[in-house]
Amino acid sequence: KTDIIIVGGGHAGAQCAIALRQNGFTGSIAIIGRESEPPYERPPLSKEYFAREKTFDRLYIRPPQFWDEKEVQMLLGREVTSVDPVAHVVTLSDGTSREYGHLVWATGGDPRRLSCVGADLSGIHAVRTRADCDQLMGEVDGGVKNIAVIGGGYIGLEAAAVLTKLGCHVTLLEAAPRVLARVAGPELSAFYEGEHRAHGVDLRTGVTVDSLVGDGRVTGVKLGDGSIVPADAVIVGIGIVPAVGPLIAAGAAGANGIDIDEYCRTSLPDVFAIGDCASFACDYAGGTVMRVESVQNANDQATCVAKALCGTSAPYKAFPWFWSNQYDLKLQTAGISLGYDQTVLRGDMASRSFSIVYLQGGRVIALDCVNMVKDYVQGRKLVEAGATPDIAALADASVPLKELM
Ligand code: FAD
Repeated sequence: KTDIIIVGGGHAGAQCAIALRQNGFTGSIAIIGRESEPPYERPPLSKEYFAREKTFDRLYIRPPQFWDEKEVQMLLGREVTSVDPVAHVVTLSDGTSREYGHLVWATGGDPRRLSCVGADLSGIHAVRTRADCDQLMGEVDGGVKNIAVIGGGYIGLEAAAVLTKLGCHVTLLEAAPRVLARVAGPELSAFYEGEHRAHGVDLRTGVTVDSLVGDGRVTGVKLGDGSIVPADAVIVGIGIVPAVGPLIAAGAAGANGIDIDEYCRTSLPDVFAIGDCASFACDYAGGTVMRVESVQNANDQATCVAKALCGTSAPYKAFPWFWSNQYDLKLQTAGISLGYDQTVLRGDMASRSFSIVYLQGGRVIALDCVNMVKDYVQGRKLVEAGATPDIAALADASVPLKELM
């Protein structure tokens, strides 16, 4: 029997094992992970790794020998296919099974696939794993030039920025009227649309994909209006589907991911869920039940569970933050803007260094800071405090945010 089995060797799974040992847990720990690499950082896959500014060995969350030293058993290249919550047993794709004391489900999500005609042609890529990224990089090295990116979320936009830098011609197709519509206000969307266009991306919003065309390999994307965007390769960045099949089949409650309470407990005894696959009432989004897809959330929920398993349980209340790098623009996000009713711009967008502050009923709930580290650092305190600053002062970028507490 293994005291704690962690399913998934991504950010959340790795951090859970790290935090368990940091908090003095001496029992047995195993991580069962589908990917063959020891835990590595995912964000660089659409940034520095993709741009070849970092090699893969610089992406490891801990040096590979760390896991042996900390006596964390790594069972990689295999996945959990079923869970028996009564017997406390997981079954693996290699046919073996293991008994657990506690189970931590940290499986993230699988890239959402297109379901249209042509979706199974070759040359269609996701950007979720090292393997995805290596395959795409291999094609770019092999001379692929015209690339269509479907989806204007952070991953699609970051990929478009890197590919443009690498000399590819990128067409970015977004179904919504603007990019980043799910996560940011219209001002930020318009800014990034302008930046991508200025860098040569053929960025189109409000377009639907009818099908992918090609014979064996993709040669183009057919749009709803019948026109065809030529493409030697296609990147699909339209979100993830939480990888929760086995746990839902075992009876865990959940619709959009696995439902967890404020201690990251699922509805099954001795089973926790954390990271991208976990759905919870988020304090910083007014209690909205949602999944939060960020390294911060994965790490902090992992630490929350590790503490609970070490006997110092406390509800999950961590502050949400996120970042995205595109061209020379460093975006840092503090808080969650969902439900805002007012935005205030600080600074001048044309200078490419500004912040957008999101308010709800006069209270600061989030900030998007572009090349504005100071606003990010000071602004997150406003969010944490639920500050209600004077709007004219807030809009004056020469007034430091720390003076508005
Ligand atoms: P993951 O890191 O996805 O790990 C889950 C692991 O579980 C995977 O290895 C998966 O293969 C495995 N698994 C799934 N099912 C099973 C099973 N049944 N059995 C065993 N193993 C299984 N976040 C930020 O905050 N900032 C960023 O800039 C940013 N950029 C990103 C760029 C890219 C390209 C991507 C893909 C993500 C980015 N994110 C970013 C999001 C961030 O990487 C995720 O929020 C984070 O990885 C979530 O961690 P996780 O452990 O929940 O899931």
